[in-house]
Amino acid sequence: MFDSLSDKLDKAFHVLKGHGQITEVNVAETLKEVRRALVDADVNFKIAKDFTNLVKEKALGQDVLKTLKPNQLMVKIVKDELTKLMGGDAEEVDLSGNPSVILMSGLQGSGKTTFSGKLANYLKSKKSKQPLLVACDVYRPAAIDQLHVVGDQIGVEVFSNKEEKNPVLIAEAAIAHAKQNGHNVVILDTAGRLAVDQVMMNEISDIYKAVKPQETLFVVDAMTGQDAVNTAKTFNDVLDFDGVILTKLDGDTRGGAAISIKSVVNKPIKFIGTGEKMDAIDVFYPSRMADRILGMGDVVSLVERAQEQYDEDEARKIQKKIAKDKFGFDDFLKQIQQVKKMGSMKDLMGMIPGAGKMMKNMDIDDDAFKHIEAMIHSMTPHERENPTSINASRKKRIGKGSGTSVQEVNQLLKQFTQMSKMMKMMQGGGGNKMMEMMKK
Ligand code: GDP
Repeated sequence: MFDSLSDKLDKAFHVLKGHGQITEVNVAETLKEVRRALVDADVNFKIAKDFTNLVKEKALGQDVLKTLKPNQLMVKIVKDELTKLMGGDAEEVDLSGNPSVILMSGLQGSGKTTFSGKLANYLKSKKSKQPLLVACDVYRPAAIDQLHVVGDQIGVEVFSNKEEKNPVLIAEAAIAHAKQNGHNVVILDTAGRLAVDQVMMNEISDIYKAVKPQETLFVVDAMTGQDAVNTAKTFNDVLDFDGVILTKLDGDTRGGAAISIKSVVNKPIKFIGTGEKMDAIDVFYPSRMADRILGMGDVVSLVERAQEQYDEDEARKIQKKIAKDKFGFDDFLKQIQQVKKMGSMKDLMGMIPGAGKMMKNMDIDDDAFKHIEAMIHSMTPHERENPTSINASRKKRIGKGSGTSVQEVNQLLKQFTQMSKMMKMMQGGGGNKMMEMMKK
């Protein structure tokens, strides 16, 4: 995410490296680079210019704190201003209605149907809601089928009526159905077009007027850059929507849309989509996004994801095993599975400060664990419990069984031994020892 923008900003801050203080001249030079980086990332020129002017004022007005170097101070100011530009605080959707009606708008292909499913899944699992998904696209039967597939996947009921050609009537019938059947959230997935057109706008505005949704969301593909911002403006003029959903942020987007949308339509980005799967949804936190843009990683989100997957009982069991030197490959396998549940490797790496940059040119295989899993699956239960019993002939057999080589098996065993040692050290009150080691 935003690799090239992060890189360029990093270079811009380098201008200040070695300078003892912030001056009119070195600030101007740095900010010229910052502005160029933003414009290259598809941020509207005027927004980029206003932004750098603001940063300049802040930078020149400040005495460099003794603890901060000028380039560090500049990173901090840019981070704070980027956060403000993207909205300040995180904002969630309004769920006060009964049912709360959420209307989805956006162009065809922006990710509306996928996001409707993700949101339903999120509200069901994180907010204990009983959502109802509604297919209001009366033109494309395939779109209705797609919503049913999504609904089946996440176990959420889908309301549709292929005979009815008036989306307003479908929406109204769906809300009545929701009231009768105890659904407290209704998500209306509407028809989109490939480009903005009047019929589409009239249709969605009719639905809007008829059902008076608690929340109207505009879904937009982040990869479309400046176009995303223009489309947002057109939809906002008609619908006066409540929030923006930026999808496909897992792709190679330049970041311009995330940075500019709030200041153009003055509506917050509420969620982001980071993949095709139903759990690839994140609440949008401007400050965390600013961290990511600046290549500072997003440790908070990473920790949150880890916590979600953290199984306390399992962790306790593993701790006991480590203490008794009984940690085996079955436990290792379980841990790999937990990590995999946290999301795609590339996505996770992007959240680690500095790692995004390092990994940029590497092709991270989402199935990075595939070989390891295959090797473990090729071990006998005895071998998994007693890794030291794996001798040369066993290694050969494991390699053969898993389609890997003896070398790879050796490497796995080595890594496993190192990891076991490290875990033991961390546990035996050795956390401090580890810290000492890392400092060296
Ligand atoms: P709609 O026409 O607006 O309903 O769009 P769809 O929900 O059908 O999405 C269009 C395509 O984008 C589908 O292939 C989705 O799988 C894909 N898609 C949607 N959201 C995301 C996302 O966050 N990341 C990625 N990589 N693909 C997405």
